[in-house]
Amino acid sequence: MTAWDSIAARREGVPVMMPGHVWLAGAGPGDPGLLTLDALAGLQQADVIVHDALVDQRVLALAAKTARLEFAGKRGGKPSASQADISERLIALAHAGRRVLRLKGGDPFVFGRGGEEALALAAANVPFRIIPGVTAGLAALAAASIPATLRGVNRAVIFAAGHGTRDCADEDFDWAPLARTGAPIVLYMVMHHLARIADALMAAGLAPQTPAAIIASAATPHERILVSTLHQLAAAAREQKYEPPAIVVIGEIVKIREQLLAATASVRPPPQ
Ligand code: SAH
Repeated sequence: MTAWDSIAARREGVPVMMPGHVWLAGAGPGDPGLLTLDALAGLQQADVIVHDALVDQRVLALAAKTARLEFAGKRGGKPSASQADISERLIALAHAGRRVLRLKGGDPFVFGRGGEEALALAAANVPFRIIPGVTAGLAALAAASIPATLRGVNRAVIFAAGHGTRDCADEDFDWAPLARTGAPIVLYMVMHHLARIADALMAAGLAPQTPAAIIASAATPHERILVSTLHQLAAAAREQKYEPPAIVVIGEIVKIREQLLAATASVRPPPQ
């Protein structure tokens, strides 16, 4: 019996993937331990898994042996399928009676195209289910021992995309209102625009000494964490050759990391 069989045998109401149905599921940031049981149920039942580049190989390795893996998504620099093509593909597979798992890194609805795919499936009368995933922003904070909210420090947290997609140019985006909230800002897709965005946040009143961190490839064997200040973060990232995918977090919550690491040093398990 596999671990999955054993879990499925003890879990009531495991969702059943029907032929002709699509599940839009989050794969989490990397580590398969962060998959939901529903996403795992999808991996085990799908005939076809349509995944993007952020889905970790260790997650895809959990697919049923009979499943076909199809890559669809952006891959740095190379031509990639358009969103319309991907939605069409999902619809065509469903119409052909396949059980389809659309698997996206993190959560499909956090800066992903889950919403668009859901709308396209609904318009085509394809039954679908939405399975949330652990979004990279929260997984990265957890990996870096930075709580997203902490009583007495902040009660809100901002998730923002550092740049737009091709069809959503946002060079004119106004960062000032975000800075004025005083809430910590967690940035996705930001590495190519870090200096510009940091400048905009400082111009809007955030102190140059505001603690800031980069968590690259969170929840993967390549995870790296850089702690700095808003003022120095972009230069430090360049110097130390930090690469996407990465999450940037700016705010006082970053300071808690040091406290937590110091307090837990003696009880922390060794890295695996
Ligand atoms: N839907 C995804 C985000 C897609 S946007 C989610 O919820 O996580 C892609 C961005 O996600 C990347 O540019 C990066 O900022 C972030 N990202 C995805 N996986 C990551 C990882 N393992 N570590 C750090 N950042 C990650």
